[in-house]
Amino acid sequence: MRRPVLAANWKMNHGPPEARAFMAAFLASYTPRNDRTIAIFPPALSLTTVRESLGSRTDIVLGVQNIHSELKGAFTGETSAPMARDAGARLALVGHSERRHVFGEADEATARKCIAALQTGLTPMLCVGEKIEQREKGDTDAVVVRQLRAGFAPIGASDRPKVLIAYEPVWAIGTGRTATPADASAVHAVIRRELEQLCDSKEAAAAIPILYGGSVNRENARELLKAPGVDGLLVGGASLDAASWSAIVST
Ligand code: PEP
Repeated sequence: MRRPVLAANWKMNHGPPEARAFMAAFLASYTPRNDRTIAIFPPALSLTTVRESLGSRTDIVLGVQNIHSELKGAFTGETSAPMARDAGARLALVGHSERRHVFGEADEATARKCIAALQTGLTPMLCVGEKIEQREKGDTDAVVVRQLRAGFAPIGASDRPKVLIAYEPVWAIGTGRTATPADASAVHAVIRRELEQLCDSKEAAAAIPILYGGSVNRENARELLKAPGVDGLLVGGASLDAASWSAIVST
């Protein structure tokens, strides 16, 4: 049994003052549970604030939304994996659809970022997902398999089971249009089979949680989390409000 992972992606929202207020409201309403992992991906500039808000609490892990593939250097405006780790991140989102489709990040770049994360001791959460026209052409499976293979290509066998996967159909992100639990399960099964090929053994692949993301909210979270093969949820818009996020993580 994989422990469910419930992750919030704040995108470019909640700078330090708002992050502090969010955490005060969320921590006041959320009773820690040891049957799930809660993760928050604030903007990089709010990582320290959220880390400080957690105090000695270890039941919530932090992640960075994006890292550069180099560990340091002349890359103005970028965030390195070591900086994110030192600010409190334990996870790194890699290949989020907005990075791929708004910022033009290619499969090879996602692979280099996975390596940078692993070299730094961060756990990459590799995001994969098809665009609507790819789904309509029946290319969903091929797209997610290609993204997985590319992301895993440079990762050594012993590190592969450390990666987390988020299946996020591009057409469902921020659109209010959610995949049905059956649609999510079908793609998660394809991803699980591919992970079994990419890892040394079925058992090694079984360690990897596969999250679903795309217009998850407090109304549909339970149904999606119950879908076969769905090991967790990656939530954007509905994670920005403390009451809504608290309801989702208590699902
Ligand atoms: C996301 O940003 O990863 C996401 C799934 O966004 P939303 O929940 O708003 O669709």
